[in-house]
Amino acid sequence: MRYDIAIVGSGPAGLSAAINAKIRNKNVIVFGSKNLSNKLVKAPSIDNYLGFYEISGEELKNKFANHIEQLGIEIVEKRINNVYSMGDYFALMSGDSMFEATTVILATGVEYGKPIKGEEEFLGRGVGYCATCDAPLYKDKKVAIIGYNHESTEEANFLNEIASKTYFIPMFKGEHLMKDNAGLDTSIEVINDRPIQIQGEKLVNKVSFKEKDIDVDGVFVIKDSASVKSLVPGLETDGPHVIVNINMETNIKGCYACGDCAGKPYSYIKSAGQGQIAAINAVSYLDKLRIEAKKLVK
Ligand code: FAD
Repeated sequence: MRYDIAIVGSGPAGLSAAINAKIRNKNVIVFGSKNLSNKLVKAPSIDNYLGFYEISGEELKNKFANHIEQLGIEIVEKRINNVYSMGDYFALMSGDSMFEATTVILATGVEYGKPIKGEEEFLGRGVGYCATCDAPLYKDKKVAIIGYNHESTEEANFLNEIASKTYFIPMFKGEHLMKDNAGLDTSIEVINDRPIQIQGEKLVNKVSFKEKDIDVDGVFVIKDSASVKSLVPGLETDGPHVIVNINMETNIKGCYACGDCAGKPYSYIKSAGQGQIAAINAVSYLDKLRIEAKKLVK
């Protein structure tokens, strides 16, 4: 099955894109989390979302969830690891599964923290963002998972079935704080220390902390939003942001970006607004394709 629009991300940007596309009768698939967005849920009080003064993030999330439910939009709880432009459609990869869509809207958000030293340098050379996708490469090898969210414990457990040694380095804060290594396989070694650098020569070979190093063959950095550049080959970016024009179009035809991943300010209402613009332009692109296809048949 080929969808009209695949939306990667279930925060305000992705959901706004989804409702605007659905209202315009498009066949939409949304990838993300049933929790919608950690950045939404975490906000104690929101004062700048028009019409909802002093609403909590949790309450706004429930309103969003109710809105998409009313329109019959479901979130597919899968992480998209790669988006490939195939010419007249896109292939979206999630582990072993592949999804096809004529257009893609990127609404992944951004990770606010700085990458760890060496993370970007060794990306694809021992550093990865999806443990379940690359696990076979690390059979009987030593790996470290640097986990920024609770879901990263699941990736660590999966990898531990294959690897000879698994280290888990929790970077959680606030309500994500790890309690008594909950959810982790007992054979995984937990390091409660901040990694300073990922090091190597051609390939990664160690993670350093203030007072010690650990030898590893691979490092997985598991965040809510991984770098968009690594998600879509050929996508033009500026730092952590996708370069877009006023129509939220990227340099790749049929691929749009909106919300935090399309630049500052980082805000709910701006993200929702850009999601609408992205959807309207994706819809108009799809309609043009349909009209051109009809002309060719005549
Ligand atoms: P996000 O909300 O980050 O959502 C992106 C979603 O996509 C996430 O669920 C993520 O897991 C998912 N995703 C990412 N990559 C993939 C992938 N490859 N496959 C599948 N899913 C993926 N803004 C305000 O305007 N007012 C405020 O009061 C305010 N308070 C804030 C308080 C806190 C504590 C924080 C952290 C932020 C706050 N912000 C506030 C900023 C606001 O949270 C963001 O600007 C907004 O959430 C961005 O929306 P988004 O849809 O672009 O991305």
